[in-house]
This record gives sequence, structure tokens and C-alpha cells, in this order.
Amino acid sequence: MITFDHVNKRYASGQDALARVSLEIPRGDMVFLTGHSGAGKSTLLRLLTAIERPTKGTILVAGQNLNRLRNHQIPYYRRNLGIVFQNHQLLSDRSVFDNIALPLAVTGCNRREVGRRVRAALDKVGLLHKEKQNPMVLSGGEQQRVGIARAVVNKPAILVADEPTGNLDSQLSREIMQLFADFNAVGVTVLVASHDLELVAQMCQRVLTLQEGQLIYDGVPNREVLPT
Ligand code: ADP
Ligand code: ADP
Repeated sequence: MITFDHVNKRYASGQDALARVSLEIPRGDMVFLTGHSGAGKSTLLRLLTAIERPTKGTILVAGQNLNRLRNHQIPYYRRNLGIVFQNHQLLSDRSVFDNIALPLAVTGCNRREVGRRVRAALDKVGLLHKEKQNPMVLSGGEQQRVGIARAVVNKPAILVADEPTGNLDSQLSREIMQLFADFNAVGVTVLVASHDLELVAQMCQRVLTLQEGQLIYDGVPNREVLPT
């Protein structure tokens, strides 16, 4: 589903944020991306979401070669992806329902279909009863659930999250990670960047570790051997 083949990313500053990164994530996998701040996690996600382009190497996602993606094709490509942000980026001038409906606005769904899909997404994150609320009155964990509902409302094949539990305590963080595991269990390919090694180890899933732009670990660790 996702292939990086000898990918380099050098920013205009001259820094190699990623160096010769090769990895393969099969359809239906759940993978965590770890590494210290500055290791290249966000850069890898920005390449995957076509916010940035690789300097060298090839990226294939869902059968598409991102190197060949023209700028006008990027919005269509991104419909394959659900993207969850740390700060959830919810809009405070509209309800939970309308926040989640946003990605459907460009798809030409009729109102009934929008309602059906938004409620299905809310149901999956356990917030069906909050659709009329303003997101700003919700707790941090609930806001992140709304962010996840918005990411999955288009039924993307791939769910990508950048530090989705960054502002949550450990109990809420586990619940959010379990939610990603639930989506993975129904076939969604999931890639989650997190520097919380303990939380990642608890999930017993494949881990990719970046260090100074290089992939230094790829495997299913147990707590004892997880690199720090
Ligand atoms: P992480 O997400 O693991 O913290 P990043 O991908 O954000 O790592 O950063 C990797 C390296 O690339 C860091 O050294 C960072 O300073 C640098 N970097 C990130 N974004 C940019 C940018 N837009 N321009 C120049 N350098 C950047
Ligand atoms: P930092 O690594 O400094 O914390 P962020 O990751 O918060 O920076 O955001 C840097 C840029 O990457 C922003 O333009 C943001 O829109 C984008 N971004 C953040 N999260 C993701 C993601 N999951 N996938 C793709 N792009 C993202």
C-alpha cells in the first residue's frame, strides 16, 4: 500500500531530513513511526500526504507514483488518506457535525448521504450524542475523537496521524490508539507517528524508528528491546 524506495528529503536549508529511507507497508497493516524530535517523522508524513516532494527516491501509495503526481491531482490523491493532527484543527465557528462534514463538501454528496456518513463516523468514535455541540466545549480527548471522525468520514484506505495523543494523558492516549486499532481491524491501513515509546510498545504492532533521518529499526518490539 505504501512504498518508500531510497527516499531522500533535503530542505532548502540544506539539511537532509530523510536519508535513503526504504520501507514497505502492506495494505491493512498498522505501523507506528517513532524517533526523537527532529528525526524526520513529520517530514515522512508530509511526503506521504504530498505536502512535500522527495528530493531523491520513489514513493508509491495505493498504486500511485507520487513523483509523477501533478499538482492538480494532489487533492484527488489525498482522498485516499484520512489525516489526524495533534491539535485536531477543528473550526470553532461550527458544530461537531459540520466539522466532520467538511471533507464531504467537495465530494458532491447529497444532504442525506452527508448526514448518514457523519453519524456513522461519530458512532465509530463514540460521540453520536455530541453532534450539535461546539467542538470548543468538548474535552481534549473528545476533540481528538472529532478529529478522527473527520479523518475517516470519507472512508479513506489509509489513516495517517501525527502525534495524535500529544496533549492527552496516558489513559486517554491508550483509548485513542485503540480507536486506530479498531479502524485497522476493519481493513484500514494505519500509520501513526508518536514519540511515546511506552504507549507504542503497549500496542504490540510494527514499529519504524527514525534517527537523524535514517530508518534504524523496523520490527515488532517488546518493551525491553524498544530502542530509545
Ligand atoms: P520530527 O517530526 O521527527 O520531529 P521533522 O520531520 O519535523 O522531524 O524534522 C526533521 C529535520 O528536518 C529537523 O532537523 C528539522 O529541523 C528539519 N526540518 C523540518 N521541516 C523543515 C523545513 N520546512 N525547512 C527546513 N528544515 C526542516
Ligand atoms: P512539527 O513537526 O513542528 O510539530 P507539525 O507536524 O505540527 O509540525 O506541522 C508541520 C506541517 O505538517 C504543517 O503544515 C501541517 O499542516 C503538516 N502536518 C501535520 N500533521 C500532518 C500529518 N499527519 N500529515 C501530513 N501533514 C501534516
